[in-house]
Amino acid sequence: MSNVGLERDDLDALEGYHSPQVDVSVRLNTNESPYPPPPAWREAYLAELATMPYNRYPDRDAVELRRAIAALHDVAPEQVFAANGSNEILQLLCLAYGGHGRSVAVFEPTYRLHSHIARITGTEVITGERNTDDLSLDLAEVERVMAAGPAITFLCSPNNPTGLVEPQELVEQTLARVPGILVVDEAYGQFARWSALSLVADDRPLAVVRTYSKTWSMAACRLGYVVTSAGIVESLEKVVLPYHLDAPKQAAGRLALRFRAEMDARVSAIVEERGRLVTALSELEVDLWPSDANFVLFRPRGRNGDAVWQGLLDRSVLVRDCTGWPRLEGCLRVTIGTPQENDAFLHALKETLES
Ligand code: PMP
Repeated sequence: MSNVGLERDDLDALEGYHSPQVDVSVRLNTNESPYPPPPAWREAYLAELATMPYNRYPDRDAVELRRAIAALHDVAPEQVFAANGSNEILQLLCLAYGGHGRSVAVFEPTYRLHSHIARITGTEVITGERNTDDLSLDLAEVERVMAAGPAITFLCSPNNPTGLVEPQELVEQTLARVPGILVVDEAYGQFARWSALSLVADDRPLAVVRTYSKTWSMAACRLGYVVTSAGIVESLEKVVLPYHLDAPKQAAGRLALRFRAEMDARVSAIVEERGRLVTALSELEVDLWPSDANFVLFRPRGRNGDAVWQGLLDRSVLVRDCTGWPRLEGCLRVTIGTPQENDAFLHALKETLES
């Protein structure tokens, strides 16, 4: 059946959000952890699955999971809400605070799902601009955009795809100026030098979004959460579908938090590898931006970005092609992998740049 004339008119302008899933030996395009979860987590998870009452709906409020996340961040369980990936948290925030006649603010270039999800929920998008060269954000630009009265202001720190962390001062200044709520997407927060979690308080309109997909090595599970005020959690509870978080996922997320030391060790290993990769990249003919995340944005100098992306793919290395994204002409983004994967990437890049 054709959807012509039946679908919502405002979906015409939308394209789906896709990252190619290509079969290659070195996959460094979606910022996942290169390491599987610890074997002891898998054992504990399988043991819980073996006795799970599958005929019953899951705990609708995910109480134990929320308690465990709250303990991790030293907040009250009422300040935590979990969902199917941090993307679902972003969607719930747009459902609760956005919608027709309301707007969200984003500062480009940034994570494309912020504006995409806003539009899907019928929310207008107000676009602020980062500085062209260093891709940083000025307070004057924040103030210009705040004057338009967005119901939600999105910051992404570290920012995907630039890797830049927002300075604490800028986040505090933005928080003081938002007419609605401020959402700080910290999908890569564990790799950064500071976190806006330290600013969360019950009387502040701040929501900090985190994910299990990166540090916790659990992208397959689709689990994310927000740490915010109890009032904002109440809003999310109003718009979420009943029993949205299945029981296996709740168990997976709760058990993962027992392995904090292992996860911290992985973060340190990835941060160290990031340092090695940045040093190696800076010796090549590429421009790059300082990264506080588990990926690095770079632009081959004097080369066609698409051709370099293809050259890497021909050598079975897949990175994210940002060349066609507005404001990121010629740019590629590489996820930090295992030392072997990073070596394979560097080798393939050198060959491609020399060819
Ligand atoms: N926010 C940012 C900035 C991201 O880069 C991603 C993953 N691409 C997400 C959120 C979504 O993560 P999740 O897997 O938790 O939905």
